Amino acid sequence: MSAKKIFIMGVNGFIGSSLAWKILNKTDWEIVGMDLSDNKIPNCLKFEKFKFYQKNILTDKEWIEEQIAQCDVVVPLIAIATPRLYVQDPLRIYELDYEANVEIVKLCAKYDKRIVFPSTSEVYGMCPDENFDEYTSPLVLGSIGKERWIYSCIKQMLDRVIWAYGKHKGLKFTLFRPFNFIGPKLDDIKASKEGSSRVLTQFAHNIINGKSIKLVDGGLQKRSFTFIDDGIECLLKILENKNGCADGKIFNIGNPYMEFSIKELADMLIELFGEYPEYIDCAKNAKVEVVSSKDYYGEGYQDVSRRMPSIKHAEDVLGWKPTTDLRTALKLTLDYHLLGKDYELEQFAK
Ligand code: UDP
Repeated sequence: MSAKKIFIMGVNGFIGSSLAWKILNKTDWEIVGMDLSDNKIPNCLKFEKFKFYQKNILTDKEWIEEQIAQCDVVVPLIAIATPRLYVQDPLRIYELDYEANVEIVKLCAKYDKRIVFPSTSEVYGMCPDENFDEYTSPLVLGSIGKERWIYSCIKQMLDRVIWAYGKHKGLKFTLFRPFNFIGPKLDDIKASKEGSSRVLTQFAHNIINGKSIKLVDGGLQKRSFTFIDDGIECLLKILENKNGCADGKIFNIGNPYMEFSIKELADMLIELFGEYPEYIDCAKNAKVEVVSSKDYYGEGYQDVSRRMPSIKHAEDVLGWKPTTDLRTALKLTLDYHLLGKDYELEQFAK
């Protein structure tokens, strides 16, 4: 495998930290990582081929340009992806997720660098297809007053800009669309103020702290959850890019075998808490409450009732398939939060 230098922006995030860890352990690639802090990557910092810099995408522009000029591949993972914030602070989403990131796309085009960019399963919006296909499914958003869609709309625009740079200016790119990645380092379970994090972390936080779980509009809406480790394996194949197989392509990274309603997720999580002796009481006392989306998120929210990926392209082109079931994914996440066990460290312990 030829040596690569990868510039990961947002390396301390959920995807960035897992990706860096796996690259460092499984390849000979070098990583330059930037983020606002480094609390999720203490073990990456021990590798000589990993260089971390505390930098801000909004202010350290010259430094960022230098890194892009010097690396082989850019993975820009800096973005806010929490629905509550789409509704509360849509302009912050626009400035960070769009304005700051489109600059990175332009720099990749300027320096002729490959970009591996995170699109999102949100781009499909309220798509009526059974399975969302990267190239043929329509991307269906709600009205302007439903501010939730700003994130989806911004990401779609970035997809289209990158696609156009690829077609008309020769930009080397791959777009990937994560479907509800879950795992230990998703959001901060201790600081999960109601509505401030993704559903799994929120539920776990509420169970631990004796607060009732809120099922928005009854919790019948479904998601296809994907365990982070499966997602990272796919990303590794994209970065590896054997014979250029991922160039100019879009890949859903999701797990069609892990579709559950939000209510089912809540039930399974409560049941699993009961398997940890110190948390049996939390499981017994867990309460579930139905709330309306209007009360929980505000007027600007609109939900997605189902989000099911087709992963045919990832299977055919990359030879990738997810293997982790929901029970295992939840157990590994709870082991981390309740027992301090980190499966990522254990994977490469020998
Ligand atoms: N949700 C919920 N209770 C919560 C948080 C989220 O019922 O405390 C629902 C939310 O309305 C959505 C689903 O769980 O239907 C997944 O929400 P998440 O924030 O994880 O992200 P999304 O998949 O909507 O991008």
